Amino acid sequence: METDTIAAISTPVGEGGIAVIRVSGPDAIPLVDRVYKGKQALTEASTHTVHYGHVVYPFTDGDPIDEVLVTVMRKPRTFTREDVVEISCHGGLVPVQAVLEALLEAGARLAEPGEFTKRAFLNGRIDLSQAEGVIDLIRSKTDRAAQVAMRQAEGRLSRLVQRLRQDILETLAHLAVNVDYPEYDADELTAQRLRERCDQVEQEVETLLTTARQGRIYREGIATVIVGRPNVGKSSLLNALAHENKAIVTDIPGTTRDVIEEYVNVRGIPLRLVDTAGIRETEDVVEKIGVERSHRALEEADLVLLLLNYTEPLSADDRRLLDEMKHHTAIVVVNKTDLPSGLDVEEVRSLLGKTPLVSTSIKEETGLDQLEQAIVDLFFAGRAQSGDFTYVSNARHIHLLKESLRHIQEAKTGLEMGVPLDMVEIDMKNAWQSLGEIIGDAVAEDLIDQIFSQFCLGK
Ligand code: GDP
Ligand code: ZN
Repeated sequence: METDTIAAISTPVGEGGIAVIRVSGPDAIPLVDRVYKGKQALTEASTHTVHYGHVVYPFTDGDPIDEVLVTVMRKPRTFTREDVVEISCHGGLVPVQAVLEALLEAGARLAEPGEFTKRAFLNGRIDLSQAEGVIDLIRSKTDRAAQVAMRQAEGRLSRLVQRLRQDILETLAHLAVNVDYPEYDADELTAQRLRERCDQVEQEVETLLTTARQGRIYREGIATVIVGRPNVGKSSLLNALAHENKAIVTDIPGTTRDVIEEYVNVRGIPLRLVDTAGIRETEDVVEKIGVERSHRALEEADLVLLLLNYTEPLSADDRRLLDEMKHHTAIVVVNKTDLPSGLDVEEVRSLLGKTPLVSTSIKEETGLDQLEQAIVDLFFAGRAQSGDFTYVSNARHIHLLKESLRHIQEAKTGLEMGVPLDMVEIDMKNAWQSLGEIIGDAVAEDLIDQIFSQFCLGK
């Protein structure tokens, strides 16, 4: 049980005009009151009220540090289900740090990353998948990713998983009757019903898993590699994409990066442009980073953009790369179409198979729309983008869903082979258990710590 009072800056440092410091814990209100000067003592304030005043160093009559608005929220209707005080002060690193220091001096402890959300979880306000939704929300790169994360935070995945578990539980209850009273002899009927239930659960878990690919793309971005001969326009394309769509700053903790990444937002889909350093600095990605490296970059890519030069015939390198594209999700971009033709585009088409081809002049800014459309088509062809389904975008959830699917399938195999029902019961219980881990039932303490430590400070 955690009983101390924690504080942290909960807005991005150095951004925006206002910064919010959040304080949570049993001592939150009297503690903030020690550094607060205003019309009324905060300890007398009613819940969910806002107060204007100044923050001063505690235990002194010193000069005010900053002008503030203080929101007092008494438990249990708060994010952490503890008493919470939020202090809005002027942005700028110096006053915010000074207010935080005053709070620490007054007895607060600096919160660990994710500790507020962890408390919300431990106090039963949110379940684990909702907490992870909050992590994704903090990290999400585009609006759409934010929507997915938001929906998860709202508990849609939780509700789905809970319903599935309920189904399994009811089935288990039926089974228990049969296992405990074999003379009751409804075996044949039970097995039939069991098969139906298993089919149904299996199908729903599979549906959740098929949305996982899209979810991962929204969350992590489409890993994109731009390849092509020197001077064909790779840097220009990168800049055009980044310029039109405003590059998104990356902030993923824990990723080791020997390649530089840059995010651009293409119609709501984040493209993660890999190896941009190679493109930007060496001019020739294929030659300078070596065949090995470029192979690895290609292997790990979700999308390869192969640029060809409209003004020149195919080179040996071009042909080699074109051939390679058969193994990848790729788009061939014929660039510099504003210049006289030297390329047999029909021949290129005939070499391509299913790989789409787009013509551009990056210089004259033509064809970029078509390129963006081709990307959307490749990854979301035939898929409504209304966002009307629940995404599963978290690696841990995907793993657990796969695990529960495996148990369900074992149960089905068992039923087909006519194994004793108590064996089937074990598989069903395992499936129920795996699903439960998604929403934090029966999760080991260290796993909880690991999940919450991924948060930014102050969340
Ligand atoms: P990279 O070596 O593949 O990265 O190629 P760059 O992006 O550095 O481009 C090489 C040259 O081609 C630069 O001078 C660009 O301005 C020029 N370039 C890029 N795209 C086009 C285009 O569509 N038309 C024309 N005429 N020039 C282009
Ligand atoms: Zn961060």
